[in-house]
Amino acid sequence: MFAVSFLIVGQGLAGSLLAWELLQRQQTIAIIDPDEENASKVAAGLINPVTGMRFVADPRIADYLSVARHLYQSLERHFKQRFLIERPMLRILKTVEHRQLAEKRLQDTAYASYLDGILEASECVESPYGLLRQKQTGYIKTRDLLQALQQYFMQRGVLQKRRLDYAQLEVNGHVRYQEISAKKIIFCEGYAGQHNPWFSCLPFTPVKGEILTATSTTQLPQEILNYHQWMIPTASDQFRTGSSFDRDNINLAATEDARQMLLAALNKVLKISPQTEVINQQVGIRAATQDRQPFIGTHPAHSSLSIFNGFGSKGSLFIPYYCRHFADHLLNARPLLEMCNITRFS
Ligand SMILES: Cc1cc2nc3c(=O)[nH]c(=O)nc-3n(C[C@H](O)[C@H](O)[C@H](O)COP(=O)(O)OP(=O)(O)OC[C@H]3O[C@@H](n4cnc5c(N)ncnc54)[C@H](O)[C@@H]3O)c2cc1C
Repeated sequence: MFAVSFLIVGQGLAGSLLAWELLQRQQTIAIIDPDEENASKVAAGLINPVTGMRFVADPRIADYLSVARHLYQSLERHFKQRFLIERPMLRILKTVEHRQLAEKRLQDTAYASYLDGILEASECVESPYGLLRQKQTGYIKTRDLLQALQQYFMQRGVLQKRRLDYAQLEVNGHVRYQEISAKKIIFCEGYAGQHNPWFSCLPFTPVKGEILTATSTTQLPQEILNYHQWMIPTASDQFRTGSSFDRDNINLAATEDARQMLLAALNKVLKISPQTEVINQQVGIRAATQDRQPFIGTHPAHSSLSIFNGFGSKGSLFIPYYCRHFADHLLNARPLLEMCNITRFS
């Protein structure tokens, strides 16, 4: 028998960063994950503090950003590898009203750390209403990060590459799964959490997304472009663009429709249509939630069952903050914020 304090199910960004946090706090853990494609490996990893048509920042944004930057930079130091690419973002303003809203936000001192001003024109981009230049934006190289963490967990002997079969989990005061016994199991299965027998009543609203990686022979902007879709220049001749948003077809099949839509959207905003060659088309399912807040907490009838899931399309920014918050709750009995606590559905 292999006894640990926490058994973590899922080695996506949520399970991996929570496992890292618990290890930093000298906890014993085991992780189970089948090592298949997941949302975290596919994701663009964008970090964008001011979002939506109305350019809104979450009231906790300063904390989200500072915890995320601190965690990713400490992982960079540990693995001697770059994961956080900080890069400005240009948001293409679409109408007169859109521009007026951007101007209003620029006058708001609460947004001064995130908004830089309006560019009237760009060499590469069609922008009759200008471009809002955003700060503190960038992206996480999620695939590289997960790979580094996977190796680290394997070397420490805490990661097992297999799928947990819910039917074989024994739940009493503790949990037992085959040869592993744990005080608590924490489910971090991404959108598969909707089939978890103990937490499937939570209102998951999964969303399929597709992303293209392509080469271009044409000069691309240096900044991340945001035009409802986005384009991230990842090398001088390579970029990623995405991502589609499909609530009706929750499957992992790449579609011609999404590919055409993403290329057409990019061509529409660039002055010179790039000569592109798509070298990869990836599909993932976002574990989105009805109220767009995470699902964190403990089962009302089984104190040994917890969940850490529901990070929607903002996992790169949210997960570091909520790892710290959840670890404080688990280890120091700090109350969970109501907005993320699953008790809000009871
Ligand atoms: C197309 C696309 C684009 C995105 N773009 C962005 C972006 O730009 N910025 C951003 O912040 N977020 C983005 N996201 C969202 C981001 O991917 C998520 O917020 C985050 O990665 C979720 O991580 P997770 O660990 O909860 O889920 P996942 O990454 O899906 O990981 C869940 C893991 O659990 C495992 N698992 C499931 N069931 C079991 C079981 N029974 N036993 C063992 N293991 C199990 C799975 O195999 C998987 O490895 C995007 C997502 C998609 C799909």
